[in-house]
Amino acid sequence: MGSEIKEKIFRVKGTSVQPYTCKFVRDGGSLRIKCDCPAGMYGEPCEHWMSIFTGEDQEYLDLTNDDISELQTWLDESDLDEALQNLLYFEGHERNMLENLARQKKALRGRVMDILLSDPQP
Ligand SMILES: [Zn+2]
Repeated sequence: MGSEIKEKIFRVKGTSVQPYTCKFVRDGGSLRIKCDCPAGMYGEPCEHWMSIFTGEDQEYLDLTNDDISELQTWLDESDLDEALQNLLYFEGHERNMLENLARQKKALRGRVMDILLSDPQP
């Protein structure tokens, strides 16, 4: 594994007027990612760059598809790979479960309403 340090900086359109800036730094087997959004300032992983690995919609201002592919390879075998993949897995799982719960809840609310609005059975 080479020790060449690689860097990629790009902007992402977020909720504020000013776009956020994400910075990827790869140094051998280490990968460090920073974003200057409020969460990122505290070192929290944020959607502005996690979307690179999940494929979720994000409005990148200066990132080509080739850049995205390259950044995805940076994660492979980096010291961030396992922990981040697990986090993304659980986040995806959580999202699916919440959607499923919301669907079930909606169906049950409809069922309860149907009963409440129906004529009582003697
Ligand atoms: Zn961010």
